[in-house]
Amino acid sequence: QVKASGRNHFKFFDLEMIESIKEKVKIETKIREALKNDGFVLHYQPQIKVDALSIYGFEALLRFKNDTLSPAVFIPIAEESGLIIEVGRWVTNEAILQLYDWKERHINLKPISINLSTKQIMDKGYIEFLRAGLEKYAIPPEFIEIEITESILLEKTEKTIEFLNELKQVGVKIALDDFGTGYSSLSYLTFIPVDKIKLDKSLSDKFLELTNIKVMDSLISLAHSLELEVIAEGIEDLEQYRRLRVGKCDYIQGYLFGKPIEVNEADKIYDSNLSYVIA
Ligand code: C2E
Ligand code: MG
Ligand code: MG
Ligand code: MG
Repeated sequence: QVKASGRNHFKFFDLEMIESIKEKVKIETKIREALKNDGFVLHYQPQIKVDALSIYGFEALLRFKNDTLSPAVFIPIAEESGLIIEVGRWVTNEAILQLYDWKERHINLKPISINLSTKQIMDKGYIEFLRAGLEKYAIPPEFIEIEITESILLEKTEKTIEFLNELKQVGVKIALDDFGTGYSSLSYLTFIPVDKIKLDKSLSDKFLELTNIKVMDSLISLAHSLELEVIAEGIEDLEQYRRLRVGKCDYIQGYLFGKPIEVNEADKIYDSNLSYVIA
């Protein structure tokens, strides 16, 4: 009996595995097709200056044009298959083109943050690709901010630091994404060339508990003492905004001030003041 049900269970598990492999192959195919047929689009989520409540810049977040599939699902598949190299270059080029478009149409150019996968360190030509793109469209490099995660530091560290230093030499800014999850070691902040830390949503979610507020406040003041800026992500409610303002956080990103939106929607709010959100 036990054996039989064990075997059935095993069979069931196999089928599930096959289904999940099929699903992965399907998604991988979708990514290849999107790369070939202009099937990707960037959505833009506003990043707000805590003091002025104006829009500082936007984070570019990747989407399929014809599917709502989350990048949390398809980016790992792009990474496993190696397609992330081409995807990453597409995102980079698209952000540069968007900056060029904004430069032509808006008086004040605002920075775009893009996410760089740890796997993209293997893209030998990436830094030159980025540099050449910025030069071609005459975009001052500081208008691109590259978001990396701490996992980048778990890989071959010497090579990684060299990569980050070269990236920094291009003149782009570097932000440490999802800070406060994973292996957060504060010592990283002293030997990699970061300009900004992005406090993860999970920190601000637990936020109204006293110990977390203390952690948050200390992280912010530590960052400031290292001359780093701080942005809090995943901010959904007013209470969190108010407390982050007290804690002197520089920027906020989250549904409270806006979800990721298509570029024509971003254009509409580009120069607006968002104080009505907290009124
Ligand atoms: P991330 O870089 O940490 O981006 C923030 C994610 O949190 C985004 O999810 C954003 O839509 C979501 N978010 C922002 N504010 C709030 C909020 O107030 N509440 C909640 N619940 N969520 C909020 P998204 O767009 O689904 O992206 C998920 C992850 O996929 C990103 O996390 C990033 O790691 C990755 N990703 C997205 N686009 C790219 C890309 O172009 N390249 C790479 N390598 N990864 C990307
Ligand atoms: Mg990010
Ligand atoms: Mg993040
Ligand atoms: Mg995050």
